[in-house]
Amino acid sequence: MVGLIHRDPGAAAGRDYDLIVIGGGVYGAMLVLESARRGLRALLLERGDFGGATTWNSLRIVHGGLRYLQQLDLARHGESVRERRWALGNFPEFVRPLPCLMPLYGRGLRRPGVFRLALALDQLLGFRRNRGLAEGQKLPAGRVLRPSEVSEIWPSVPRRDLLGGAVWFDAVVEDSHRLLVEVLRWACSLGATCLNYVEAERLVAPRGVVRGVEAVDSTSGRRWEFASPLVVNCAGPWSRSLARAFDRDVPELFRPSLAFNVFLDAPAPAPMALAVQGEGDRGSRTYFLYPWKGGTFAGTYHAAWRGELDDGSLAPEHVEAFLASVRERVPGFDVGPERILRVHWGLLPARREGWDRLAVRDVFVDHSRLGGPRGLYSVSGVKLTTARAVAERTLRRIAGSGLLRPGPLAPGPRPSVRHVPRWADMERLAGEQPEEARRVLEALLCEEAALYLDDLVYRRTDWGFDPRLLPRVTDTLRSLLGRDLAPSPFETWGARRRGAST
Ligand SMILES: Cc1cc2nc3c(=O)[nH]c(=O)nc-3n(C[C@H](O)[C@H](O)[C@H](O)COP(=O)(O)OP(=O)(O)OC[C@H]3O[C@@H](n4cnc5c(N)ncnc54)[C@H](O)[C@@H]3O)c2cc1C
Repeated sequence: MVGLIHRDPGAAAGRDYDLIVIGGGVYGAMLVLESARRGLRALLLERGDFGGATTWNSLRIVHGGLRYLQQLDLARHGESVRERRWALGNFPEFVRPLPCLMPLYGRGLRRPGVFRLALALDQLLGFRRNRGLAEGQKLPAGRVLRPSEVSEIWPSVPRRDLLGGAVWFDAVVEDSHRLLVEVLRWACSLGATCLNYVEAERLVAPRGVVRGVEAVDSTSGRRWEFASPLVVNCAGPWSRSLARAFDRDVPELFRPSLAFNVFLDAPAPAPMALAVQGEGDRGSRTYFLYPWKGGTFAGTYHAAWRGELDDGSLAPEHVEAFLASVRERVPGFDVGPERILRVHWGLLPARREGWDRLAVRDVFVDHSRLGGPRGLYSVSGVKLTTARAVAERTLRRIAGSGLLRPGPLAPGPRPSVRHVPRWADMERLAGEQPEEARRVLEALLCEEAALYLDDLVYRRTDWGFDPRLLPRVTDTLRSLLGRDLAPSPFETWGARRRGAST
């Protein structure tokens, strides 16, 4: 099983599909995978690069749903535990257990007694959390520590009023860009077609019945029509504008709120992920700081969003407020704006217009039920963690309307994951065995549809994650390929240009 992401819009336009998925973020990718695993012919259209928008900016924590126990949302807790296990079991190359430590000072729910109860409940309800997992992937039970144990792990923890600390295990997918590509390789190995840099523009639905979409290949400017009786809009923050263009506005699909993380040039304060309380009215928020790619990844800060979807920018005040809060909560972690290597920001669905509180559930819209075209659906979700579960649910719901007949799950393994060298190894290889280095590069470019420099250094590899290394990286790539790789012409907020680099 090879798992080639073969980009040929012309050939793709000559085939019929059971469904077309619009949007190649994690929600679209998982829907294409779950469709392909059930024997359906699926086409994915992504107007930029796969996973280049919201998905690229996530904090990369696969949440087990401990926080949902606070709200007694047992269904969501159960789903998160299942999905975390799925990720740990199916992608052990990328997903690993993440120990988290939260110091407890006796405020609100952050008290040792409350946590003891929550961790016991987590243990009880999540008793299947490790079923089928390999030894190194299993998550130990959480527990409440004494203050002295907390300071052994985190020596500079503020000691005043410290009552103890809670330790629990979640999972993290540090190279989430690779996970997304591997999901697409898996889907392609089962017959799916995935096209990046192809933007869906018009729904083809004569007499109110979906027949396909018209889309533009931005690399050639050519328009193509892709045929299918089902179209699923998974365009994340753009799902609402796409729903409007194809049928009508559905406000509950996406009421934007701002979210960001920062990648800091500073060693992490502790070997575990620290979970610290936000400030003031953000007191109920939790910020995570964990060691990531030689620095610290910290977030997530949430705020109301007031801009237009594609015109907004991240106000520096938000970043300053976040850093001030982190400095206050993590003494000795003296990070100012000069330590920021990258800000990862994006828009997430809020509960209400103009709010910073996230929506609680994914949204599924069958447009025909609103009087729109038969065969058009829109989906939006809140977490990377549960995107696969939402995909399964989406297929069940569409099947319920009689328009789709998913088969049983395809047996057999996924393709083995591609080994992508870290930059230091790649640089060495380029020096010692340039032919071999060129072969590695060509495989990434040709077999994974990396068209532009950004695709290669941000979403097929992590070679561009440290912006200080970029000039060296591009020089080496130029000398290996004998040409410059063009930067991606496609700009999305948060992904790279305006929001990402500081
Ligand atoms: C700062 C931040 C931190 C987060 N941290 C976490 C975390 O730790 N754990 C977690 O589980 N979740 C986290 N999340 C949430 C998670 O990242 C999102 O829920 C998820 O990535 C959303 O994926 P998506 O596919 O819906 O959207 P996107 O990734 O935005 O994908 C939508 C895609 O649709 C494409 N598109 C739009 N219009 C068209 C069109 N007309 N034709 C073709 N393509 C189109 C876009 O180019 C885009 O790539 C975080 C999010 C943010 C912003």
